[in-house]
Amino acid sequence: MNTRIVAFLTLALAAVTGPAVAADQKLNVIATTEDLASIAREVGGDRITVESIARGYQDPHFVEAKPSFILKLQKADLLIVVGRELEIGWLPPLIQQSRNARVQVGAEGYLDASQGVRILDIPTGQITRAMGDVHPQGNPHYWLDPENGRAIAKSISDKLSQLRPNDRPYFEQRLAAFNTRLSDALKKWVAMMAPYNGTKVVTYHRSFPNFADRFGLDIVGYVEPRPGIPPSPGHTLDLIQEMKRQNIKLILVEPYFDLKTPDSVARATGATVLVVPPSVGGVKEAVDFFGLFDYNVTLLVNALKAAAGK
Ligand SMILES: [Zn+2]
Repeated sequence: MNTRIVAFLTLALAAVTGPAVAADQKLNVIATTEDLASIAREVGGDRITVESIARGYQDPHFVEAKPSFILKLQKADLLIVVGRELEIGWLPPLIQQSRNARVQVGAEGYLDASQGVRILDIPTGQITRAMGDVHPQGNPHYWLDPENGRAIAKSISDKLSQLRPNDRPYFEQRLAAFNTRLSDALKKWVAMMAPYNGTKVVTYHRSFPNFADRFGLDIVGYVEPRPGIPPSPGHTLDLIQEMKRQNIKLILVEPYFDLKTPDSVARATGATVLVVPPSVGGVKEAVDFFGLFDYNVTLLVNALKAAAGK
């Protein structure tokens, strides 16, 4: 074929498919949370740049939509979301206003990380918004099981490879390294938690079912009457009675909730309030996906030790 025709066809193709990312340029990845950003960084290495929208110390259900987020999304090649409606209160208008065809729901540059993970608390029966439940599609805090982290990493590796086929071996090698490191770390975390297997705890929001399931905690109650609904006096009294009845000594609270009710429940029951970050960046020590579990497991083990000595 005549080189001029080839050049013309190439240009025409580029016009149809839109501004394709040059193969030597880093993929611009935006993740909704710091947890997803951390895993993307592990897999994507130096072939991508990653930024997150929500900060780890914010309630991921309720993030204030800022214009700067739209600017980030405008330039993104790939958007990774937690899904299961975690971001439904703030993300859809940002995606729409970005006018970036690459990252619209269902487009090639949109990845729902909940595909392939184990989801707990899937509701049975009718769910109505009037119930105020912010977990209508099962529990969206699934990244708190390291095994789900592995599934998220696989989805990200597959997606990055789809967008950059030439870099597939690089992403797959990084995925394998992440998995090896995660297996070793998980063995250590499970061993640290093993002496406390079956310990009953209360949490503020339903952020920790996957964590509890993996590490042998038994969550028997919540400070919130329903996910997304603030504590009510009636529910708080019921909770206090139940905690006394079952002799529960630990209340886990996410960093973005008011400690007033948990503190009063703790005073009434002799329990300890423990602020536990559900996300990377929730406390400064939780610098990445590994740091999050290192921090939380150590925090819990120390608290459980102290509670056992009481
Ligand atoms: Zn939630």
